[in-house]
Amino acid sequence: METICPIDLRCANEISALLTPPSSPEVQEYFDGLLSTRQCRDIGVKQDGGFGKGAYAASEFKEGELVLKDQMLVGAQHSSNKIDCLVCSFCFRFIGSIELQIGRRLYLQQLGASVNHDCDMETYSYTSKDCRETDSSDDDDYSLTKTSKKLGECTSGSSKTKLPLPDGIVESLMNSHLMLPYSNMFSLPQAVPCPGGCGEAYYCSSSCAEADWETSHSLLCTGERSDSVCREALLKFLQHADETNDIFILAAKAICSTILKYHKLKATKLEGQEKYVRANASDHCVLSLLLEAWKPISMGHKKRWWDCIALPDDVNSSDETAFRMQIRELAFRSLQLLKEAVFDKECEPLFSLEIYGHVIGMFELNNLDLVVASPVENYFLYIDDLPYHEKQEAEKITKPLLDALGEDYALCCQGTAFFPLQSCMNHSCCPNAKAFKREEDRDGQATIIALTPICKGEEVTISYVDEDLPFEDRQASLADYGFICRCPKCIEEEETVRES
Ligand SMILES: [Zn+2]
Ligand SMILES: [Zn+2]
Ligand SMILES: [Zn+2]
Repeated sequence: METICPIDLRCANEISALLTPPSSPEVQEYFDGLLSTRQCRDIGVKQDGGFGKGAYAASEFKEGELVLKDQMLVGAQHSSNKIDCLVCSFCFRFIGSIELQIGRRLYLQQLGASVNHDCDMETYSYTSKDCRETDSSDDDDYSLTKTSKKLGECTSGSSKTKLPLPDGIVESLMNSHLMLPYSNMFSLPQAVPCPGGCGEAYYCSSSCAEADWETSHSLLCTGERSDSVCREALLKFLQHADETNDIFILAAKAICSTILKYHKLKATKLEGQEKYVRANASDHCVLSLLLEAWKPISMGHKKRWWDCIALPDDVNSSDETAFRMQIRELAFRSLQLLKEAVFDKECEPLFSLEIYGHVIGMFELNNLDLVVASPVENYFLYIDDLPYHEKQEAEKITKPLLDALGEDYALCCQGTAFFPLQSCMNHSCCPNAKAFKREEDRDGQATIIALTPICKGEEVTISYVDEDLPFEDRQASLADYGFICRCPKCIEEEETVRES
């Protein structure tokens, strides 16, 4: 039996307005506007006759040159990764200090939180396709594998034996009584706690704290100053997302940011108007304003999550209908919890299963890894590179820490995010650009670098999969994104495959 969402019926007209794709001039205006706010040199977004979008070079790029830095629309750190690194909840920069990063992680490891943090998949199983090794990587390259493809997450606890530290060391690292040698070379912004009092979110600055509060956290904060309707329901929603799929957190952020923006637009609009108009309009949804607030989400390519999610390898095709139904039920359960937590009568259409399914589907189709390299890794590498005598001295203190941390001594911040401009970039198995973090890129923004010289007018392409995989494997991975690749490399290799 398919569950029926009453809001789907009640708000059918509003929902269809929200899901109508924006017109071509609206799309152009939106992306031109976005580009003017980004650090990029001469790229443009063009629409190819209603089929889709693409990013094009408006002037020549040299190999290795920065093409674009894109800011995320929404993003979230994987919940399991929160044990490993403390980052700003808004820009995902590492915060605190090297001592705090190490001490906190060892403390949480001692609590056993990091050990055997298995994916708890109740309703269906999915194996994490690419639990990437993040330790000792020699560059900060990050893969473009769409994160939503892996419902599971990398476990952070390494199985190798870790050597315990003497009593008190972890505490003195955390309360900054113990200063590590040379750590002042790697200073980090001080952690600013969430003003809502949740004790969960920390920021690199009060401006990030404010921005996050205004964007979505005021509704999603579990602290006492939260603006949510029910904090208990919110906790349940978050727990459900932790146990099933963090894509729900992104969807909640998208919904909440639309609600908050709607109220801001309405307040601005009503400012000059007469009092009686204000009273009349109090709980009536002003559709034009809701559509305006929804605009950034309306620009993303969308399908219902349960329709577009790739069938996992271990699910038989004869069970496909049942699987998709299960996914739909899972989304409905999450939506019920979210609705209890942050429902807003004026924005009721946003709480329909139809909208929720499409928002999650948009993330499923367009999500990218959010990765920020750990300064702890750079710190230990620095110590390792010191001249012999200094290194000997420093290692008296740092070596036991390294042993206690174990093999994965410096995991990077990992999460998932939606980058509006990057998601316009099309795939090629011989791409001319790639997401590549440089030394100066310390936050969660996406950085796109030219891999080869790019001519004026040429399309900027990136690879959604590992382009070194064999032809069939690439095609199989790309099928999850809903297309067959016809890039030069694929056309050439297809012939070779056919001939053999
Ligand atoms: Zn920040
Ligand atoms: Zn908070
Ligand atoms: Zn290809």
